[in-house]
Amino acid sequence: MRKIIEKIDMSERKVRVRFAPSPTGPLHIGGVRTALYNYLFAKQHGGDLIFRIEDTDSSRFVPGAEEYIIESFNWLGIKFDEGVGFGGKYGPYRQSERRDIYKKYVQQLLDDGKAYIAFDTPEELETKRKEIENFQYDASTRLLMRNSLTLSAEEVQKMIADGRQYVVRFLIKPGVDVVVDDMIRGEVHINSSILDDKVLFKSADQLPTYHLANIVDDHLMEVSHVIRGEEWLPSAPLHVLLYEAFGWTDTMPRFAHLPLLLKPVGNGKLSKRDGDKLGFPVFPLEWHDPKSGEVSSGYREKGYLPEAVVNFLALLGWNPGNDQELMTLEEMVKLFDLSKCSKNGAKFDYVKAAWFNHQYLIRQPDDSWVPSFDKLLREQGIESTPEKEAEVVRMMKLKVIEYVDSLGNKHKRNISFVSDLWPLTKFFFVAPESFDSEDKFIKKNWKEETVSEMSQFMQVLSSVEDFSVEGQKAVIDPWVEQKGLRPWNAWRICLVGTGQGPDMYELSAFLGKEETLRRMRFAIDTLG
Ligand code: GLU
Repeated sequence: MRKIIEKIDMSERKVRVRFAPSPTGPLHIGGVRTALYNYLFAKQHGGDLIFRIEDTDSSRFVPGAEEYIIESFNWLGIKFDEGVGFGGKYGPYRQSERRDIYKKYVQQLLDDGKAYIAFDTPEELETKRKEIENFQYDASTRLLMRNSLTLSAEEVQKMIADGRQYVVRFLIKPGVDVVVDDMIRGEVHINSSILDDKVLFKSADQLPTYHLANIVDDHLMEVSHVIRGEEWLPSAPLHVLLYEAFGWTDTMPRFAHLPLLLKPVGNGKLSKRDGDKLGFPVFPLEWHDPKSGEVSSGYREKGYLPEAVVNFLALLGWNPGNDQELMTLEEMVKLFDLSKCSKNGAKFDYVKAAWFNHQYLIRQPDDSWVPSFDKLLREQGIESTPEKEAEVVRMMKLKVIEYVDSLGNKHKRNISFVSDLWPLTKFFFVAPESFDSEDKFIKKNWKEETVSEMSQFMQVLSSVEDFSVEGQKAVIDPWVEQKGLRPWNAWRICLVGTGQGPDMYELSAFLGKEETLRRMRFAIDTLG
């Protein structure tokens, strides 16, 4: 048994990593995490992050997917150093533009007897599958098939000249202990006997398959580390063998296969269905499927801040070793440690995602809330101005920040998204139209004597000329003092309709004198 162990000395090598999506649809949130980990690793080693498009499977190509992926990273603030849309001296970076390069390397393997040409039609393969239990195209079966190992060189030449379609298969020697030296998982051993002779190239479209293109490009682009999802671990032994077949073992990258993202509840891989069922997106941006027209929700459109998404994703499969949760991208670059990533899958905690958004939202300057808040109000058919909106945000923001009371209890306000503001701020823009007879706050604070108190209060308010907070205070505070009244809760019922909202003077100043008095009149008449 032969052993291939690649303990490569990385000290001399420049770190170059790549994120290499296939444009087969919207980018899954797990793919975003993979790109993020590549980014963090590259930056902390002063290395390069390459953006490569792996589009050799034309049957799975989806228009718009590439643009979607680029826009997603723009939004998230994850920057690439070179690649599609970024340039660089190792291009082109779109695999469909590298056909001639791959052909040369396929020919090299054929010339060296490390690959062979196979003519088996899908029907012939199907027949063999029926004949032989657990059929696999490998050392035990390849000599039963129609390929350049069983046909003469003349027959092969003739068939190609006749235009017969063929594939090129990788000749895998059985019984080799292939070792993938994974930075997260340690040594992973696979016996080559379980691998099949993978197709590397198809004559039909003159394109290589993922495996060949991926290895050739990683080599030519001088990729030093391959950091990708766990789903690619089964391909890694084949990739190690390809590196060896080309004679490139000295420059083989180190591998790191990241843990899977798991369902929030139950077992198994996170899927779009989990998101649909539990109401969270699994894509960074909203995606409009060009074929079905189906729309899938995105983190951006749901009101997430990109910094919150990045922070949340960074901690799915890695942590800094203490309980620090909030980190900027720069901090993550410093703290990230690829070798400390978990081997086990990471449960996708979407409630935690909303918590992160809350944390980032409350740290944002007020004005940055305004565009989303404005959009929200427009959706509700409310006419307002950015100035008014900024004013409401200012008043309400204090109310949504997590605070610790004197007994040390944490109170969390459930504002995770700007859209959560609507039910809490509706009264700024819409006057109460009715009063809930079951509302505890109303029951407690609207009494027999309230009508007369509120009527007197209205009279005093009408006399206030300067309706600013200070202007009102100057007149109302002494009056309240002198009368020994506490009109605040009943006043709140008039203006808000229940027991919520900001400071009353601030609210009445915002509404203005006319609207304040109108709402009070309506409450007095309605509640009686
Ligand atoms: N094109 C593969 C993908 O879609 C890349 C896998 C790899 O990183 O090797 O994820």
